[in-house]
Amino acid sequence: MDCLFCKIIAGEIPGNKVYEDEYTYAFWDINPQAPVHVLIVPKKHMENVLECDAETAAHLTDAIRAVARQEGVDKTGFRAITNCGEDGCQSVKHLHVHLLGGKKLSETMD
Ligand code: 5GP
Ligand code: ZN
Repeated sequence: MDCLFCKIIAGEIPGNKVYEDEYTYAFWDINPQAPVHVLIVPKKHMENVLECDAETAAHLTDAIRAVARQEGVDKTGFRAITNCGEDGCQSVKHLHVHLLGGKKLSETMD
């Protein structure tokens, strides 16, 4: 399968890894929108949250917490979002959560 994030997880494309566990992988976004902008992805390929099972969602939540603590935004706060489909402006078709922080984020999300 020709998937950019699967290639980053496999180490075929350099990805600036931030965190890894058995189920998830996290790396710096190439075009950061905040001082902390990490992409957290399941190692198992799935297109987006519509395909995400409860177990994977739980592992992603564990990873969000771990990355937030590791990057020092757990006390100041952060945003964790996932874009889905056309109207959600999802550009990479491998489920990913954007963890954004390190500054006061916009109050609007559209
Ligand atoms: P989406 O728009 O699908 O929610 O988010 C995709 C994200 O992947 C974007 O924020 C984009 O900057 C990031 N991205 C695209 N290509 C690469 C890449 O090759 N490496 C990394 N680290 N991030 C990428
Ligand atoms: Zn993939």
